[in-house]
Amino acid sequence: MEKYSLNDTIAAISTPAGESGIGIVRLSGKGALKIADKIFAAKDGKKPSSFKTYTVHYGWIKNNKEVIDEVILTVMRQPRSYTKEDIVEINCHGGIVALRRALDSVLENGCRLAEPGEFTKRAFLNGRIDLAQAEAVLDIIKAKTDSALRLAAEQLRGALSGKVNNLRKGLLDILAVLEAKIDFPEEETGAVNLKGVRDGLNKINEELKNILEGAKRGRILREGIHVVICGKPNVGKSSLLNALLREERSIVTPIAGTTRDTIEEIIDIKGIPIRIVDTAGILEPRDLIEKKAVLRSKKHIELADLAIILFDASRSLGREDEILMDKLKKKTAIAVVNKIDLKEKLKREKILKRFKSVVDISAKKLTNIKGLEEAIADLIYNGQVKSSESVWVSNLRHTSRLKEAQILIAQALNSLDNKLSFEFVCQDIKEALLSLDDILGRRFSEDLLDKIFAEFCIGK
Ligand code: GDP
Repeated sequence: MEKYSLNDTIAAISTPAGESGIGIVRLSGKGALKIADKIFAAKDGKKPSSFKTYTVHYGWIKNNKEVIDEVILTVMRQPRSYTKEDIVEINCHGGIVALRRALDSVLENGCRLAEPGEFTKRAFLNGRIDLAQAEAVLDIIKAKTDSALRLAAEQLRGALSGKVNNLRKGLLDILAVLEAKIDFPEEETGAVNLKGVRDGLNKINEELKNILEGAKRGRILREGIHVVICGKPNVGKSSLLNALLREERSIVTPIAGTTRDTIEEIIDIKGIPIRIVDTAGILEPRDLIEKKAVLRSKKHIELADLAIILFDASRSLGREDEILMDKLKKKTAIAVVNKIDLKEKLKREKILKRFKSVVDISAKKLTNIKGLEEAIADLIYNGQVKSSESVWVSNLRHTSRLKEAQILIAQALNSLDNKLSFEFVCQDIKEALLSLDDILGRRFSEDLLDKIFAEFCIGK
């Protein structure tokens, strides 16, 4: 079978497995209506192939006369549908068996089971959305916080694609000017306005820089940041993790496979998904198990984007605290003094030498946990106010293509400065255009599509 054949009609259960109020079987392709005709008995006796687009019909699903489920059937005719093909959606009662049987009956009547993400892949291949928008669909499904969702929805609406298209247009205009001069050097077209070309390229470069500057924050909103809580034993690491979880809705319960000594949870702090790890806190392992725990903590600390280093207000600063501060010398870290509800014995001079400020909390009494969250968010947003105006690139694939384009344009500017032949300049511009094409999927390989859509669920 041809890999991206758009000729066959695909079907899948589009809702999650398990018992639910309703479950949807979705069909897309040339045969969707004809196949629906065979399996749907409308109350009024009419056939789906006679239904108007965007209409909803009540009836029964059957397979060879056997009635399977009472359903509502929706028809969305091409080209104004999710895939730009004829789509039929069958709202069944959401039981595993009923849905499976409804799916079987469409498969037996000529549908092929859809691959993961194949509906969205068709939307892309049929030209309804570009590749960046298709990727945004996945980001919407996977969004863990409101901000991540907003970012993905903007991308689906074409915010990034619009910017990339503008950049392409700018480059194409410049290319046209230069190529005319290469093709017709003798013509009376006058000298090329080199300043205009240079200004144009500089402008595009500036725009690329702006987009890329937002990329780090875009990635943070999409993937979250890794935060590690460290501190000597009994300083209150687990208590702090619990306090944060209590304060904020926890997105995921402890991740399977985590060991006794490290627990990872994801929480939402001001729209940023924070993956937070509480480390073992053992500094001098006594046995093999502890040694392994220490190694794991070390790895978590190395990988973390941000460390919260806890101090105990009720104890004086010890050797363990100093070793830890030393270890975290190069890390972005927030110093937090815990147990401020107890009598303070901690001398803060050394801490304040390393950190500009400390956040005082009591994990047990839940004092100033909000203050700590503010400090974390401030650090991430660098004190800058979130702007919904700018496009934030959140996808590594997009970032790397944008960086490529930036390098090529810098190269083109360099060639102009060195008075090299326009052919060199044009070559760089053409390659920069290809990098931008990759983002939109104007050019793509099967491997790339496979990789992107493999992450989708079946039925999307
Ligand atoms: P960890 O070993 O760093 O994970 O520390 P735990 O979170 O297990 O806390 C050690 C002990 O300190 C427990 O008995 C906690 O109840 C206590 N503790 C934690 N935070 C506070 C606090 O803010 N105030 C007081 N008074 N006790 C705390």
